[in-house]
Amino acid sequence: MASFDKLFSDLVAQEVNAQLAPILSQLQQQSEVIARLGSAFGAPVRRGPGRPPKALGAVKVSAPKAAKAVKVRSSGGQRGCAVIGCPRPARAKGYCAAHYQKYRNLEKTGRLPSDWTPDAAPQSANDVVLPRGRAGAKALAEAKKGKKK
Ligand SMILES: [Zn+2]
Repeated sequence: MASFDKLFSDLVAQEVNAQLAPILSQLQQQSEVIARLGSAFGAPVRRGPGRPPKALGAVKVSAPKAAKAVKVRSSGGQRGCAVIGCPRPARAKGYCAAHYQKYRNLEKTGRLPSDWTPDAAPQSANDVVLPRGRAGAKALAEAKKGKKK
């Protein structure tokens, strides 16, 4: 019985293959024709010197101009940070981003040194090393007391 089943299924498979073969080959031919047509249509319109047509399309679609403009603006003539020994360019009031934050902190807590002036000349202010931890809290408290008096 098992051998008969196998024979039968083989027969069915053969029959199906025989009927499907011409359809499959037709499909393949059609897809080849479509591919050829597509390349024939695509080639004369998009092909330029040196670049494949796909790359050209991609370049046209994605071009963020705003970011580039910002980059150009920020890379203009810049002066250095006002703090002596700081290699970064000035960002605000003559200080780099990090030292401007420090400037704001010192100003807010009433500990701004005399050489930390707004729009200070580059490399003109001595860096301030603030105490950290418990010593820092103590220094802050004393600065507040001095401010109130
Ligand atoms: Zn700096």
